[in-house]
Amino acid sequence: MMKRVAKCVALLAFFFAQAAIAQTIAVKAGRLVRPENGTVAKDQVILINGNKIQAVGAGLAIPAGATVIDLSSMTVLPGLIDCHTHLADGKFGEGDPIFQLKKSASQTVLESVRNARVTLESGFTTVRDVGVYRALNDVALRDAINRGDIVGPRMFVAGAYITITGGAGAMTGMAPDITLPWDFHYGEANSPWEVRQKVRLLAHDGADNIKVLATGAVLTHGSNPKSQEFTLEELQAAVDEASHFGLRVEAHAHATEGIKNAIRAGVASVEHATLIDDEGIALAKQRGTYLDMDIYDEECIQEQGKNGTLPADFLQHDRELGELHRQNFRKAVQAGVKMSFGTDAGVCDYGTAGRQFAFMVKYGMTPMQAIQAATTSAADLLGKSAELGSVQEGRFADLIAVEGDPLQDIRLLENVKFVMKDGVVYKQR
Ligand SMILES: [Zn+2]
Repeated sequence: MMKRVAKCVALLAFFFAQAAIAQTIAVKAGRLVRPENGTVAKDQVILINGNKIQAVGAGLAIPAGATVIDLSSMTVLPGLIDCHTHLADGKFGEGDPIFQLKKSASQTVLESVRNARVTLESGFTTVRDVGVYRALNDVALRDAINRGDIVGPRMFVAGAYITITGGAGAMTGMAPDITLPWDFHYGEANSPWEVRQKVRLLAHDGADNIKVLATGAVLTHGSNPKSQEFTLEELQAAVDEASHFGLRVEAHAHATEGIKNAIRAGVASVEHATLIDDEGIALAKQRGTYLDMDIYDEECIQEQGKNGTLPADFLQHDRELGELHRQNFRKAVQAGVKMSFGTDAGVCDYGTAGRQFAFMVKYGMTPMQAIQAATTSAADLLGKSAELGSVQEGRFADLIAVEGDPLQDIRLLENVKFVMKDGVVYKQR
């Protein structure tokens, strides 16, 4: 009897071992970019078990029965992270946000399925999604991806914009006697306590981060990007309340004083940071605040101006700010401020975020710094360095590959040939 049990146990152990081997993937990387220390390693083997990286090194033994993926002629990098997207706003390129009112929430979120897929296929395995016109569409999109119902990047979402009434994150431009459905103005708040209430609601609704609008915006009617909106007290309330739920805050800010108020309030990142001055740069450096500067999307805004899809007031806002934004990006890089990679995807078409790398290099970053902004720095901003942003033991198995050397030609990141997320291959050539 005992012998039989022992035999049974041995057999079971054998089957489990086989199952473990069957799950193992070995990726052969000709070159592996390691943003965590700014180096490139040659001829690496990456062993993956399930959705995690088990081991990385040169000459690692490949277990018998493992699935081998041969990328020995390619350069492998960690999956890219875009820290400023709006994936759940539906079809790209409809210009005026007021067109959102022509669709139901379910139409908009189903249109967004494509946005998620092309983002992943372009090499971005994770996004921080920082606001949505219809509250909680982003939560629905994230959850559908996590269930495996649809294909997309790992999403960390804001749930809604927290904004003043009529402010940068509000749906504006309709007649004053039109009453909006709840989801178009869910995040409106006009005092520190109202801000706290919205943070509490969003934390309960499943938000992963909190987005506040500290100043006016470029792509909102009646909003002036050069003016402050939330006060320092309101921003402090957002950061303090979010911290009770373990959430970090990102602040949209173009205007100089609004940027500094956001940094003083303790936000994790300032989005756009368009008109940051020397004092703001020094403050960001001192406080360790990330700047998430979307310096590419000016190209798309002016392009949409030419083909008539964007309203004239949006174009006027943008023309005045575009070049200043890029020069301030250069200053911040030179000063050694923490910089993350964020594109405002949705302003440019989904799946084209990789085009920003070349602009980050043109305006002062080394190619390695630009890659770090979208990997290790982005993971740090998310508070997920132990899980994301590098190809190291214990991290999620998120890998991309390009043909050639992206440190010589950063534009290769616009044409990613291989994408793996969570140990699953979504694109190969
Ligand atoms: Zn945005």
